Amino acid sequence: MGVLKGEDEVVELCRDLIRIDSTNAGDNAGPGERAAAEYVAGKLAEVGLEPRILESDARRANVVARIEGTDPGRDALLVHGHLDVVPFNAADWTHHPLAGEVADGCVWGRGAVDMKDMDAMVLAVVRQRLREGRRPARDVVLVFTADEEAGGTYGAQYLTEKHPDVFEGCTEAIGEVGGFSVSIDEARRLYLIEAAEKGIAWMKLTATGRAGHGSMLNSDNAVTELAEAVGRLGRHEWPVRLTPTVRLFLEEASAALNVEFDAGDAEATVAKLGPLARMIGAVLRNTANPTMLSSGYKANVIPQTATAHVDGRFLPGYEEEFFATVDELLGPQVTREFVYHDIAVETSFDGPLVAAMAASLSAEDPGARAVPYTLSGGTDLKAFSRLGIRGFGFAPLRLPADLDFSGMFHGVDERVPVDSLKFGVRVLDRFLDLA
Ligand SMILES: [Zn+2]
Repeated sequence: MGVLKGEDEVVELCRDLIRIDSTNAGDNAGPGERAAAEYVAGKLAEVGLEPRILESDARRANVVARIEGTDPGRDALLVHGHLDVVPFNAADWTHHPLAGEVADGCVWGRGAVDMKDMDAMVLAVVRQRLREGRRPARDVVLVFTADEEAGGTYGAQYLTEKHPDVFEGCTEAIGEVGGFSVSIDEARRLYLIEAAEKGIAWMKLTATGRAGHGSMLNSDNAVTELAEAVGRLGRHEWPVRLTPTVRLFLEEASAALNVEFDAGDAEATVAKLGPLARMIGAVLRNTANPTMLSSGYKANVIPQTATAHVDGRFLPGYEEEFFATVDELLGPQVTREFVYHDIAVETSFDGPLVAAMAASLSAEDPGARAVPYTLSGGTDLKAFSRLGIRGFGFAPLRLPADLDFSGMFHGVDERVPVDSLKFGVRVLDRFLDLA
């Protein structure tokens, strides 16, 4: 019997975490992350760390710990993962989402890819390294957050605002939604590393007019005004805007697939990228999708106001253009307010940390090519970036070519291959040597 390796326990760690219910419906009324946090803290304490559990509200728990590096002159690296998961309808699933079953070579359950897989990989790697006395060169700050799935009020935002000391010295970070493979052919795989995220603008629109009897003439009808504004916004064709990250992704993906990259017609290039097209389509431009409409209370009463909600997403560098366009489309009769608003982030795909990610992937998969991409959604990285930390999505997984990975996020039958988890542990271990 050799020493217990991270690869040997990552599956059990992942199953244990899945079995702990930490669903987050966004109402602060669920089970919270406390039980998951206590589990994580226990696993870290077992190998000599001194984790702290920081609760932002009853049972809304975060875990933080610092591994002292061997080189005190280096900046610290933040490694973060969230402990909460989105809700599920168990009846739709092949295996119960809280059972953590292993079947067909995969660990099944809510959080298997978002993101108890990465939490387990980080725990497995850290535990192995500390058992073996292999400290990284830089300080590594481990942060397991609450509430990522509902905007981070009780998690990343709380930590950065109330406990900024946790992040002392951190200049770079790795976290979720990146580092997974997309197969080009048998021998080659692109590993998509998140280097940018779109910003978020959930807006409530309100049109105010003149109330009155439905049988009368009314040139100031709030429903008409709002409906026209929503129509203009929803049908608007947003121009293609190639950000540095998207451009680099298109260049790399085109080269790998032997497709000609035409910067003047990015959409034509994207259309030739096969399955990658779905991932990249939403990051070529800003978007604004109407999602809710509400007005009136009786068929013959013209109401004074009408409201709508819109899910807006803007590219890094194009927030100003986004709001200027939205206001122009809405016109003077419709006002907007934020339901939720958060920044876009983008960092350049270069430097020693990027080299460390690429090298650690290539060492475990000779057919690997690391490429940067832009996430159309948002993660805790937005909060951490406010502290001046540049971050990447790097939760390395080598995936089977036929697995619909992006469909797993918040999906039914969420699962992660056992081999992918073990691969991720080996890559993260190498990464911590190189980072
Ligand atoms: Zn997530």
